[in-house]
Amino acid sequence: MLHHTPKELKERKALKVNPAKTCQPIGAMYAALGINGCLPHSHGSQGCCSYHRSHLTRHYKEPVMASTSSFTEGASVFGGGPNLRQSLKTIFQVYEPEIVAVHTTCLSETIGDDIPSIAKKAAEDGIVPEGKTVIHCNTPSYVGSHVTGYSNMAAGIVKYLAEPDESSVKRVNIIPAFTEPSDMRKIKGILNEMKAKFIMFPDTSGVMDTPQTSEYKMYPDGGAKISDIRLSGSSTLTIALGEWSAQAAASELEKKCKVPFKTLDLPIGVSATDRFITEVSQELGIPVPKSLQDERGKLVDMLTDYQQYLYKKKVALFGDPDIVIPMTEFLLSAGMMPVHIITGTPGKAFEKRIAKIMEEQGADYEYNCKAGEDLFYLHQLIKNEPVDILMGNTYGKYIAGAENIPLVRFGFPVLDRVGHSHFPKVGYMGGMHFISGVINKILDKMEAETPEDMIMELVA
Ligand code: SF4
Repeated sequence: MLHHTPKELKERKALKVNPAKTCQPIGAMYAALGINGCLPHSHGSQGCCSYHRSHLTRHYKEPVMASTSSFTEGASVFGGGPNLRQSLKTIFQVYEPEIVAVHTTCLSETIGDDIPSIAKKAAEDGIVPEGKTVIHCNTPSYVGSHVTGYSNMAAGIVKYLAEPDESSVKRVNIIPAFTEPSDMRKIKGILNEMKAKFIMFPDTSGVMDTPQTSEYKMYPDGGAKISDIRLSGSSTLTIALGEWSAQAAASELEKKCKVPFKTLDLPIGVSATDRFITEVSQELGIPVPKSLQDERGKLVDMLTDYQQYLYKKKVALFGDPDIVIPMTEFLLSAGMMPVHIITGTPGKAFEKRIAKIMEEQGADYEYNCKAGEDLFYLHQLIKNEPVDILMGNTYGKYIAGAENIPLVRFGFPVLDRVGHSHFPKVGYMGGMHFISGVINKILDKMEAETPEDMIMELVA
């Protein structure tokens, strides 16, 4: 499909070819699913909502429930207020959620519908039943990306639900980046292993990775409880695990409830996981259990044992900033050379952060790093400087096919493989799982290129 991508790079400003991002409401819908009993609501036309639902379903292999204001021509001209009122009436009568999380689309943003006023009037008129809640965030998709949408909804959750509390409880709030339910489950697992007191939201584990029980639940058991989110205002610290998708919510919590926050990377790889565990341990004054120290040792052992296959391997990687940043650090610590690093989400801070990591890790080679770029550009970079391995989402497979390089899938979306919802990449054990996938891809390629009589000598 991409065999005709030209090697020659030309400056493009107004055109994106194969973007490395998707639209804001997808992130908002995903964050809303991280609240227990929540029905995400798309304030726009049906097409947007069904695209967002189906894209999430194709990635997570789970049904995604969401409602829509179902705009037609009339709403597009005169505004979608009546549609939202009617939607809320139907939703609470028929689907009985605890909470409805409304996000906008390009169309309702262009019209300029005032969601808080419409929802407030609906509550005053008895459309929103007593004890039920409507929250909202704005997600104009002509700016930002799905990461921005996730960030906006996470901040919206704080704005509507967190309650200021003068009492102070030795407890941390954790706001994870836009990442897999498996990663969110693992982060909770690490905290539980440390016996840490914490509140985590959004939390899509138990919502987007549910077991088959033969019993249909429109609202699965997982997700952050509304009552817990309300209590987050009395915690002593918030840890935002990602500058792009989690920091805005932590900052909002500081503004509203005076809970200070720290922004760390998503705990991918040895160093980022060390920083996360150390921060929790120091804040709560609790030790790091031996089980976690042993896991760390196993990851370091694996990196050492397979160093001859990882060392100086050139990597091109693309994805969301909060994942690509710690992943770059992890790959450098494994002896690999990330030479092309791309995110589709705009923001120069990404390039600065990568430059800092390169410097800290002593990377003394030329590399390309760009934010707000597309996969066409990444492909051209690879044509100019070939790599040993490509890492990113499903859409990387066309480049991998055209250039005959292995693709390690991670990020969003992964539509054509299974496992990402269940097997984490965070924490030491997640790092082992991820890096073993990388090593195995490298070994597969080496075997494919080795004469038959030499194959058994490859891993001796
Ligand atoms: S880009 Fe805008 S119009 Fe297109 S699906 Fe997303 S919200 Fe809807």
